Amino acid sequence: MRSKPFEIGGHVIQPGEQKTIDIPLAAMATHNTIDMTVHVIHGKQEGPRLFISAAIHGDELNGVDIIRRMLKQKQLKRIKGTIIAIPVVNVHGFITHSRYLPDGRDLNRSFPGSSKGSLAGRMANTFLKEIVQKCTHGIDLHTAARHRDNLPQIRADLSSEVVKAMALKFELPVIIDSKIRDGSLRQAAGDAGIPIILYEAGEALRFNEVAIRAGLRGIIGVMRELGMLPSLKKKEVSKPSIVSTNTSWVRAPYSGILRALVPLGGKAEKGSILGVIADPLGENEYQVVAPEDGIVIGRTNLPLVYEGDALFHLAYYHQKVDAVLDQVESFQEKLEPDYSMNAPLDPEGFPIQ
Ligand SMILES: [Zn+2]
Repeated sequence: MRSKPFEIGGHVIQPGEQKTIDIPLAAMATHNTIDMTVHVIHGKQEGPRLFISAAIHGDELNGVDIIRRMLKQKQLKRIKGTIIAIPVVNVHGFITHSRYLPDGRDLNRSFPGSSKGSLAGRMANTFLKEIVQKCTHGIDLHTAARHRDNLPQIRADLSSEVVKAMALKFELPVIIDSKIRDGSLRQAAGDAGIPIILYEAGEALRFNEVAIRAGLRGIIGVMRELGMLPSLKKKEVSKPSIVSTNTSWVRAPYSGILRALVPLGGKAEKGSILGVIADPLGENEYQVVAPEDGIVIGRTNLPLVYEGDALFHLAYYHQKVDAVLDQVESFQEKLEPDYSMNAPLDPEGFPIQ
């Protein structure tokens, strides 16, 4: 069926049209206005309306480049339905390399917000009304917080069949069936009945090529799942992701300097040593031990740690973790750029494999 005109931020977008629009946010004291830029690709054919948002935490940058690369995909010209892409939601935080807004609030804890609230509450409310409530599905892109790194992973409430299908089509080795945090976009979208998944990969303030490639591939996979793009004819047989329903952080038993011994995606065997904390001014050394069998899906990058600091984020499984480890390995191999000097470069400047 032919789609109808789509209205967003006071603009009307006709079927088959692609537009970039600016939604005004609260002005600054210096009279500068701050806009949230939204890219809309409105297909000729009716279909799902998918929003893809990045940098709700202003210092989480992988998603910004995922959306930039996504918008260059020629296949989106034939999209069924509508793509609403917001490369930078937290504009203030993006400019200042900050997770937060100038009022010190975390935008992802400020939903649903209100039109009369503080800056964070107003932005959350604008985002909810102008974007989320006009969409049928959503993908929110994140990285780990500053000084931490995340193995690419999907976090979602898999009790919904639609959410589960979206999560699986992202084709990552790690999916976490996770509870929703109060005030998060995920909660607000869930309350509005809009299935949403969260992609977490890499660290704040850094680009990670594998995380960016995996994010782009995952989003295209979700679009195929939702019928916005045609399914692949000759589908590569990839093993379905194994879902973890339980994760926990292993914390520092003492203050000191940490040498991590297990990489992201590495195996944590019950009782094995994940890292060693040494006293920088003395001779004492303490071992950080894995409490259960699992895999490392998040890690601190700071060597200086205080007692109680979160060091290793482990995901646990009902089955042996070796199957997940195999998937992590083939995932890395597939998406790792080949930096050998004679490899031809793609338009992004990365060697073609
Ligand atoms: Zn985040």
